[in-house]
Amino acid sequence: MEIARTKASFVIVGGGSAGCVLASRLSERPENRVVLIEAGQDTPPDLIPEDILATYPGRAMANMNYFWEGLRAQRGNGAHIPPAGRAPGFFHQARVMGGGSSINAQIALRGLPRDFDGWQDAGAEGWNWEAVLPFFRKLEHDVDFSGPLHGQDGPVQIRRVPLNRWDPFTQAIGAVWHAQGHAYLADMNGDFGDGYSAVPFTNDGSQRWSSARSYLTRKVRSRPNLTILGRA
Ligand SMILES: Cc1cc2nc3c(=O)[nH]c(=O)nc-3n(C[C@H](O)[C@H](O)[C@H](O)COP(=O)(O)OP(=O)(O)OC[C@H]3O[C@@H](n4cnc5c(N)ncnc54)[C@H](O)[C@@H]3O)c2cc1C
Repeated sequence: MEIARTKASFVIVGGGSAGCVLASRLSERPENRVVLIEAGQDTPPDLIPEDILATYPGRAMANMNYFWEGLRAQRGNGAHIPPAGRAPGFFHQARVMGGGSSINAQIALRGLPRDFDGWQDAGAEGWNWEAVLPFFRKLEHDVDFSGPLHGQDGPVQIRRVPLNRWDPFTQAIGAVWHAQGHAYLADMNGDFGDGYSAVPFTNDGSQRWSSARSYLTRKVRSRPNLTILGRA
């Protein structure tokens, strides 16, 4: 009944990609009393399931314990989809601490600068590239790249598979693109032209870095003003 007595200044419903960040950042201020409620299981640092940590995202995606069972959605009714394919089907949405970041494909791509600038032009004040870049830098520890476009001190580990470690099939495809005149872009989060590239992942080379793992560390969880409720 401790929970019922907790007077919260912030209740965060959903410990997903965003909720974990909110809980961590809001509870930095001791005067805030923060309650984070997640419907799925919690994943404390020492108890993150192996299939969530796995580099191959298909393992977590295949575990129905991390999803909203019975969630169905119609995927579209475009003419290109045959009638049999239009029936509502299972819709993957995470139900676990870290939300999508615990089960997704780990692809860590920023949008294009011109897209953010387009948002600002359309009226989203404060969302141009110059305004969002500090936050991309702040969230990451980019293992491969530094400089003005990248962060080294953020909690989310980001890494690419270097060209010389691509499997022979992918290298062969790259060689064909190269021969066709397409440029190899070393950093997809910094070289914004057309070309082919190694995808940045929220992964340190051997394990996934979900939002839960990155932001709800042991130290953060020990804050007396933060209450985390899993399966709630
Ligand atoms: C299969 C899949 C693959 C993806 N691959 C990528 C990728 O490679 N790269 C990428 O950038 N994006 C990817 N995405 C998208 C990305 O994961 C999501 O955009 C992101 O996680 C959304 O964050 P969110 O915080 O808005 O919601 P979520 O991360 O979905 O978090 C919502 C959380 O709220 C909880 N919740 C909901 N209702 C309640 C309630 N009533 N009470 C308590 N808790 C509740 C849920 O259980 C969930 O944990 C993928 C998504 C899916 C589903």
